Amino acid sequence: MQNEVWLRMGSFITVLALMMIWEAMFPNRTSPVASSKRWLSNFFLVFCGALVGRLVVPAGLAVVAILADQHQFGLFNVVAMPLWLAIALAVVALDCLIYWQHRVFHRVPILWRLHRVHHADPHLDASTGLRFHPVEIGLSIVVKAIGIYLLGVPIEAILIFEITLNASAIFNHSNIKLPNWLENPLRKIIVTQAMHRIHHSQVVNETDSNFGFCLSIWDRVFASYTQRAKKGDDGLVLGLKEYATESRNTGIGTVLLMPFRKTPKMKEP
Ligand SMILES: [Zn+2]
Repeated sequence: MQNEVWLRMGSFITVLALMMIWEAMFPNRTSPVASSKRWLSNFFLVFCGALVGRLVVPAGLAVVAILADQHQFGLFNVVAMPLWLAIALAVVALDCLIYWQHRVFHRVPILWRLHRVHHADPHLDASTGLRFHPVEIGLSIVVKAIGIYLLGVPIEAILIFEITLNASAIFNHSNIKLPNWLENPLRKIIVTQAMHRIHHSQVVNETDSNFGFCLSIWDRVFASYTQRAKKGDDGLVLGLKEYATESRNTGIGTVLLMPFRKTPKMKEP
């Protein structure tokens, strides 16, 4: 268990550092808000989310996998197959679950209140991949726990899934642009920055597409894929119209209280 914590922390810090160096050296866009201010808000949410995680599942999601194993419950505990195959299928199944969770958070108004804290970021970089309201983090952990139990996910798959999900979020939100020779084949398999930027467009039907986190197949399979934003990758405007001004999208209190406040009118009073 101790090794797991170090593995998760180590991979998290490594991927975050690599992507932050990459986007600092070759930035795709310039942020409308000072990075230091955005980072303070975004990393504050990371801290709150980590606290909530400790409260909801103090010993981590692996415990849920152990419980399912002890109860011999769930698909992967009932159907016999080699462990490597069960791990691979479980990681893919959990990625599909997160895709649907993401769609539901966009569809249900009360959940959108929470998720729009993530979308209100007026710029995208590695820190946006971690900018989630702590209540959303808590709900997401419950969804994952239910999925892990119902599927009987092998314990080995939990660590791989959590590391993959975290790394994907940091990777696909980062402020870089891959060259076309890499973008095109890579996007057939995983969610790239250009694909995910469309999801952060201010145009509503573009936001309501490209929900995938790691694998890009779910958007194609479930008909929510947008290949190109109407204004193109360089022309699309990031964030939410109602939260376009700095006072509405940045600040520790602003991001923490955003779900509980009235949705602002389009223009500042
Ligand atoms: Zn979203």
